[in-house]
Amino acid sequence: MTIQANQEAVTVEALINGRNVKSLSQSSKENPANPTEIVGYFPVTTKEQAVEAIEAAAEAFKTWKKTDIEERVTRMRKAIEKIRAAENEIVHLLSREHGKPLYDAHGEIYVSLMWMEFACNEAAAALEEQVTEHDHGKTILSYDPIGVVAAISPWNYPIALSTIKIAPALLAGNTIVLKPSPYAPLAAAKVAEIIASEFPAGVINVVHGDADVGVELTTNPHVTKIAFTGGTATAKHIIRAASDTIKDMTLELGGNDAAIFLESFDVNDERAMRRIVVSNFLTTGQICMIAKRVYVHRSIYDAFVEKYIEAANRWIRIGDPFDADTTVGPVNNLKQKEYVLGLVEDAKQRGAKVISLGRILDQKRFDEGYYLQPTLVLGCDAHDRIVVEEQFGPTVPILPFDDEDQVITLHNESIYGLTSSVWGAEKEAIAVARQLEAGTTMINTAAVQGLDVRFPFGGFKQSGIGREYGTEGIRTYTEQHVINVPKMLDLPYIPE
Ligand code: NAD
Repeated sequence: MTIQANQEAVTVEALINGRNVKSLSQSSKENPANPTEIVGYFPVTTKEQAVEAIEAAAEAFKTWKKTDIEERVTRMRKAIEKIRAAENEIVHLLSREHGKPLYDAHGEIYVSLMWMEFACNEAAAALEEQVTEHDHGKTILSYDPIGVVAAISPWNYPIALSTIKIAPALLAGNTIVLKPSPYAPLAAAKVAEIIASEFPAGVINVVHGDADVGVELTTNPHVTKIAFTGGTATAKHIIRAASDTIKDMTLELGGNDAAIFLESFDVNDERAMRRIVVSNFLTTGQICMIAKRVYVHRSIYDAFVEKYIEAANRWIRIGDPFDADTTVGPVNNLKQKEYVLGLVEDAKQRGAKVISLGRILDQKRFDEGYYLQPTLVLGCDAHDRIVVEEQFGPTVPILPFDDEDQVITLHNESIYGLTSSVWGAEKEAIAVARQLEAGTTMINTAAVQGLDVRFPFGGFKQSGIGREYGTEGIRTYTEQHVINVPKMLDLPYIPE
């Protein structure tokens, strides 16, 4: 295969202390829809450069932490306007490097800006110190910045999962070193650069690479908080790496999110059937909170499967991400494509029935790119790999269940607990939802369709530690500091 640099190939560089810094070696990112095309180049940041970026952030923190909230919010709002003005350019770059269709790339910017605006609107109230006069004296509770934040983001939502960290971290008075994923580094780096242009040098730094640079970010003593979104296996390395210096951490990790359809669910509700299909295959199934296993009450199972296939065949149109008709693009990278294929093959060998879904719009593009035709997997066992592992791709198992206790047990025995959804009559659905171990449970919708950035988002169990979004997602970048002025200065039980 001959790899060619496209005329529009972009080059991003590390951003350290307000300067673009070249590296001795570069990596390239190919277009997953057409892997012979190089979308752009990004540097391989050296250990020394990573240290330089962290030290720049530590130096900038000394003054940035003293700025008032009005200044921080004003700067962030200017950055939001610049991102909005550059939206089309960013969306095209994101779509080409990631493989997500244009509408979906716009959706990512939409979610990013919604959150950044929420964070700007809420920051002053979330961070305001609380002074309490009480019988025992006076207490001041303040939300102090933590220091240098290492923000490590994944490839599936590279912009949203970077800005979800950058905005609250900076608004709370911290400085940051961002490391995007090498599988989608370009658009995230561009957005970080746009934001950085509104802030003093050193407040935002960007480095590139993989585990090598990641290790420096997670062990360096100047880094006081890690904000990581990615796989559970990687998080285990990070926890170990950070243990020597006991860093504060927010970890947003993998999920195996279940969608549960109760007996009261109306299979003839076409809008709801479309919503579950979208919840399974948006971004080619590569979203942490996508519905990854579907459980349907046995009394409606056959009718559900029939209607599901009809709805999926209507909505899924597999094509070039730049084609306006495309709803499902390629998988982001070859490793992920092979992993998903392996899971489907394993299910087949164990006797499952695999049904292809949707229409291929451009067979040539499909054959050349990292495409997978979406599939439905029926007749698998509750503990097959395709049911218990996070597939993170365009395939979904649908299984029958007999009663609510059984499906609640199946839901809760997972090592994960990120999101879930329950579909059917609202009262019954909420009653089941209350029994599920998941950070968010949506009723009659799922995945990003039910995301509300005003409320905390995160996982139970091995899906993570801490919360992003909501007021919690701002305060997570602070240390609570109590200043006590007690009336009784000397305790009575301490002898003279
Ligand atoms: P990943 O864990 O492979 O990589 C994530 C980031 O960690 C990348 O930037 C990578 O370069 C970096 N990294 C790798 N090794 C490291 C190390 N030893 N130290 C420090 N950094 C290191 O994840 P991915 O494949 O990019 O993303 C997919 C995973 O992310 C899925 O499991 C998905 O569920 C999860 N995810 C979770 C959420 C959430 O909010 N819970 C959101 C999106 C994705």
